[in-house]
Amino acid sequence: MRIVVDRNRCTGLGMCEAEAPDLFEVQDDGTLLVLNETPDAGCRQDVEAAVEGCPTEALSIVED
Ligand code: SF4
Repeated sequence: MRIVVDRNRCTGLGMCEAEAPDLFEVQDDGTLLVLNETPDAGCRQDVEAAVEGCPTEALSIVED
């Protein structure tokens, strides 16, 4: 599983960070930092919550 961010859609609102703070961190300048782009399967619920919680649909999961 790999997390993909569409930088053209992300507005830095940080809903993903609220859902999964171990995986996402919005920087002071509003840029989203993905702390772990290839999380373990055990993180799937958190990743899916972040994907669904993103108001601009900027996040997606790619199965490698
Ligand atoms: S919730 Fe979506 S728009 Fe907001 S920081 Fe995360 S990826 Fe970007």
